[in-house]
Amino acid sequence: MKSIWESNQFHRQPDLVVVGAGIVGLFTALFHKRAFPHHHVLVLERGPFPSGASVKNAGFACFGSPSELLADLSNEGTDAMLDRVEERWLGLLELRKELGDLAIGFEPTGGHEMYAEHDPLYTKVADGFDRLNEQLHPIFGKAVFQWDDASIHRFGLTGVKHLVRTDLEGPLDTGMLMRSLLQKSVGSGVLVRTNAHLTGIIEQASGVELSLANSEVVRAANVVVATNGYSKALFPELDVQPARGQVLLTEPVEGLRLKGTFHYDEGYVYFRDYNGRVLLGGGRNLDIAGETTTEDATTPLIQNELERLLREVILPGKTIAVAQRWSGIMGMGASKSPIVQHMGPRVVVAVRLGGMGVAIGIRVARQAAGLIG
Ligand SMILES: Cc1cc2nc3c(=O)[nH]c(=O)nc-3n(C[C@H](O)[C@H](O)[C@H](O)COP(=O)(O)OP(=O)(O)OC[C@H]3O[C@@H](n4cnc5c(N)ncnc54)[C@H](O)[C@@H]3O)c2cc1C
Repeated sequence: MKSIWESNQFHRQPDLVVVGAGIVGLFTALFHKRAFPHHHVLVLERGPFPSGASVKNAGFACFGSPSELLADLSNEGTDAMLDRVEERWLGLLELRKELGDLAIGFEPTGGHEMYAEHDPLYTKVADGFDRLNEQLHPIFGKAVFQWDDASIHRFGLTGVKHLVRTDLEGPLDTGMLMRSLLQKSVGSGVLVRTNAHLTGIIEQASGVELSLANSEVVRAANVVVATNGYSKALFPELDVQPARGQVLLTEPVEGLRLKGTFHYDEGYVYFRDYNGRVLLGGGRNLDIAGETTTEDATTPLIQNELERLLREVILPGKTIAVAQRWSGIMGMGASKSPIVQHMGPRVVVAVRLGGMGVAIGIRVARQAAGLIG
């Protein structure tokens, strides 16, 4: 039995339900509420808090390393590569403007890609470097990448022969970002309901029926599904595969000299400083099949490799304890572009953010809100 107060405020039929309280889901809800202040907007999140990749990631505010962009260039052509970089760059600018650098802990300390001695990747990057900078010039208004081998020693790295730097990237605090986004969404009047696991969606002429794991049914006028790597359970036909990423965080390292974000091994490995510690992730390429999973776990194979890199490349000669390990689930597919589309007149999906959701999440959300609006 519900009181009139519950019926009016909490259980009235939502104009929009957003499924998933990640960066995409929360921004979608916020943008819709802003456009339609009188609408009842409800976010359904299965975890006790946001619990997808948006709270597990490495916090790189980045738009692609030279080796990644050159690979995209040869696989998909110039226009596709440039469009993607522009989306990421505009996304980062919008994110910083919307939430503020202070609130998201953004540090403009630079982004780097490093290459080992005899690294075939270096030869490819060196060959395409100047042309890449020229092609990117209209987006950034300057040569965005510079060689910075002199900093290898400054950062204390070993086994690294060459380094590229851009001043336009840097690390942010993922937890602060999500907390401030949650606060802003709720402050705008969005209702967020946690421990609400959606198990089924049926679209009808008059609305959408959403089944929850606790057998409850919620009816909504419109729905945006922003479940990213978990989307197969709801829409098996979509090309969104779960792609697990593993991370470790060290104990504080005395005299840590790293500053900024670092990509290594074609972007399969990434690390950064975080409050005097090293946050290191990646290694999915060691076991792509095994990491195509939504299971929340780490594995010895990948964690051992990350620890080896820590010992041999990032913190040579130091004995460092690992304080924390975790994993997060990305959504990937044949294309690197996100899927933002109608699944029916009242249902939109905004998924497959790949490894760049921090950068593009806000723009994917704006697009999803636009489709519903
Ligand atoms: C280890 C790791 C490192 C990364 N590093 C970076 C980085 O440095 N920079 C960068 O730009 N990107 C990075 N990414 C990618 C980035 O985190 C993602 O692209 C982005 O967070 C995706 O946001 P999302 O809102 O689409 O999905 P998510 O954040 O995954 O949100 C989906 C939400 O839906 C909820 N959910 C799922 N199924 C249901 C259901 N049935 N019912 C209700 N709720 C449901 C989940 O609990 C989750 O909260 C990284 C990802 C990982 C895993």
